[in-house]
Amino acid sequence: MSFIPGFEPLSEPSGPALWFIFNEQKLLIVNRDGHEDLPQTSDLKTPSLMTMYQQYIGSLNGKPCYAAEVNGTDPIPAAFVFRGIRSLFGRFEDEAVLVAGLANQLIVWNRNHRYCGKCGHPTENKKDERARVCLDCGLVNYPRLSPAVIMAVLKGEQILLARSQRMPAKFYSVLAGFVEPGETLEQCVQREVREETGIEVDHIRYFGSQPWPFPDSLMVAFIADYAGGTITIDGSEILDAGWFSAGSLPAIPPKISIARRLIDWFMETKG
Ligand SMILES: [Zn+2]
Repeated sequence: MSFIPGFEPLSEPSGPALWFIFNEQKLLIVNRDGHEDLPQTSDLKTPSLMTMYQQYIGSLNGKPCYAAEVNGTDPIPAAFVFRGIRSLFGRFEDEAVLVAGLANQLIVWNRNHRYCGKCGHPTENKKDERARVCLDCGLVNYPRLSPAVIMAVLKGEQILLARSQRMPAKFYSVLAGFVEPGETLEQCVQREVREETGIEVDHIRYFGSQPWPFPDSLMVAFIADYAGGTITIDGSEILDAGWFSAGSLPAIPPKISIARRLIDWFMETKG
């Protein structure tokens, strides 16, 4: 599966359009012959499904993708049901779930930027790029992205993993945190590891990145080496942390996240 973001519909789509329709962050799913799927245009030809807002967001395997919002008080036809996006991981293609996250992100962004933050006048979608422009003062707003770092900290043949209060179940994962204004990505790596575990790191090198639209992150992943300190946790944000070898890992996050890619890389190189 391959998603190509865009703000103008494809001139020659290679398949039927896919619709990511939301109400209150829940995605509309159609039950087609006993299995749940994303609605296509042909599923939506029903007068009781009126979208309040719709926007082209890109293409998935050549199929045009639209984000739309419906009024929660309107009845939905019997074949449809609303689902939380994250509940679709493992049931739908991973990339389709990430596109659903992006669709939700753009709908929320549009809704929150209908008026100019500078002068208060209405805004509209800009014609030549994904942005909203003020009809009065011309101020342009782009979708917000919140950069975050995520890092595998290595000490010899061991990796630093922690169980966070945010994490579901009993997963242990690599540390992560949001970048603050005025900070480089490398400084953020050092600060987050220090704040969450009391450990100092150096030799910070880039690993990869992943858009993570829950709600608007760009995860930038690094590998770093232990440079000093002993593990000290606050017990509120981080519940437990430790050094683990490839042969004795605790429960780790599912395949879709870049956190898991970092841990898989560790297992391949140190296992
Ligand atoms: Zn304005």
